Amino acid sequence: MIMEDLVALCKRRGFLFQSSEIYGGLNGFWDYGPLGVLLKRNVKDAWWRDMVESHNEQKIETGAPSTYEMTGLDCTIIMHPQVWKCSGHYDLFHDYMIDCRESKRRYRFDHVRGRWVTGLKHGEGGAAAVEQKVFITTMETEDVQTALDAAAGHYFGLRKKDMDTLKWEGPIAGITDMTSFDEVVGPDAKRPGTLTEPREFNLMFKTIVGALGGEDDAAFLRPETAQGIFVNFKNVLDSTRVKVPFGIAQIGKSFRNEITPRNFTFRSREFEQMEIEFFCHPETSQQWYQYWRDRRFRWYTEMGLAGERLRLREHEQAELAHYSCGTADIEYAFPFLPEGEFGELEGVAHRGDFDLRSHMEGKLVRQGNELVLEKDAAGQVRHRGSGKDLSYYDDQRKERFVPHVIEPSSGADRATLAFLCEAYTVDQAPTAEKGEDANRTLMKFHPRIAPVKAAIFPLVKKDGMPELAADLYGELKEYFHVQYDEKGAIGRRYRRQDEIGTPFCVTVDGQTLTDGTVTLRDRDSLEQWRVPKSKLADELRARLK
Ligand code: ATP
Repeated sequence: MIMEDLVALCKRRGFLFQSSEIYGGLNGFWDYGPLGVLLKRNVKDAWWRDMVESHNEQKIETGAPSTYEMTGLDCTIIMHPQVWKCSGHYDLFHDYMIDCRESKRRYRFDHVRGRWVTGLKHGEGGAAAVEQKVFITTMETEDVQTALDAAAGHYFGLRKKDMDTLKWEGPIAGITDMTSFDEVVGPDAKRPGTLTEPREFNLMFKTIVGALGGEDDAAFLRPETAQGIFVNFKNVLDSTRVKVPFGIAQIGKSFRNEITPRNFTFRSREFEQMEIEFFCHPETSQQWYQYWRDRRFRWYTEMGLAGERLRLREHEQAELAHYSCGTADIEYAFPFLPEGEFGELEGVAHRGDFDLRSHMEGKLVRQGNELVLEKDAAGQVRHRGSGKDLSYYDDQRKERFVPHVIEPSSGADRATLAFLCEAYTVDQAPTAEKGEDANRTLMKFHPRIAPVKAAIFPLVKKDGMPELAADLYGELKEYFHVQYDEKGAIGRRYRRQDEIGTPFCVTVDGQTLTDGTVTLRDRDSLEQWRVPKSKLADELRARLK
């Protein structure tokens, strides 16, 4: 699949628009159009329904060590600044960036890729050419070597036919392997040595609360929804009858000032997360971790991401965050990534008691096998916790403990993007009419997330068919998101619906007038069959599950 084709379809049919496009757009921000809003809402609804609403706390789910309960929260985006100090985000949530003095661009250090190359560099004003060796760079892309070829050709001023005079050395690598920045040619630079050394850059957006605007009023937009759940742990316990093990789910916006937002909505600065914090006894935490890892992986397959493009990857010990006893990523081979590479859809982490303890005691750091309070040079606790007791008393076991936490954390926008990529299909059009492209573009969305569930057409605009179709449309609209279309040839109308992933088309035709049946057409198999009007809603309901 060519990513540009999908991006173009998303814009043309109203799935996604660049934010503030009429002003030239704002990098890292995206708006969902009329169809996109339906698609994303369906993704979030399916997640909430499957994880929270339809979860049966009376039954042991496949692979779970016991029954459990689920509940929800909707917390604020701006929280007390101390939250981020204790969670570690204030000190640790950063990426390294480098700036280019020449192009004035900024890059995420770990996203720059380069390779040594030697060539003849022509001097300015006709001066003699001299051999030069530089480290040519580009931003990580689908095909790094092709991008490096272009950059080197540009740098040395070569024509296509002279490209083989370049001598490449060593593997493609990051700048980390470099000794000197003086020999690096930045991704958009014309000269070597214009990149700055890497600097830390905190990814949290800062804002001011209240009118005074001093440093004391500084607050942050949340970079994850999870912390709202931890700080409300006691409130949920005190206001409901839930008992450990239980999970709290939340869907909401998060903000990260990503240095290089890119790859469509994959890395945005404003995005939505769907997170669960699952609280359990330390002794069963490993079993719960495995349960959630497998449960969440299964969810993506149930929603249509089956196949080799989806994988579950357990982190190596060295990759784990300092508090984690296990993390697995659910990853998808997005088409904009280099062949064989995967991008994270969701992280499932065993976080131990790190979060609840941090909000009780203060910011924790690892010392050997222990998590201890971080102290400054004068021996004072660096960031104090709330001092509130966030432990749990299990009245059956007669035991008090700080629950361990399993966190399945996914991105609504990344999931939506994966569903868009997976759905995009081009096949031979069965109904190509004169002048029409023989290829049919269709979005094979799972019926649960398809933005439009069915389209209602009168075959022709006469003989009472439009009136009948409009009545049917009105009836179905009560239950499903449906569309009415009477413009153009029927083949074209089918094509329009295929392109936005509508699973079913309903046609009112001559036979409807005599026997009250309509034609139902399946988007993927193209099969057509007749259904009595009165049974249409039931038929659709059964097939849209
Ligand atoms: P990455 O390594 O890709 O930056 P991460 O490991 O920092 O991701 P988490 O902190 O684990 O991501 O966030 C949980 C989920 O939130 C991710 O799996 C992803 O689906 C989503 N997410 C995180 N950052 C972004 C972003 N900038 N844009 C869109 N979704 C995001």
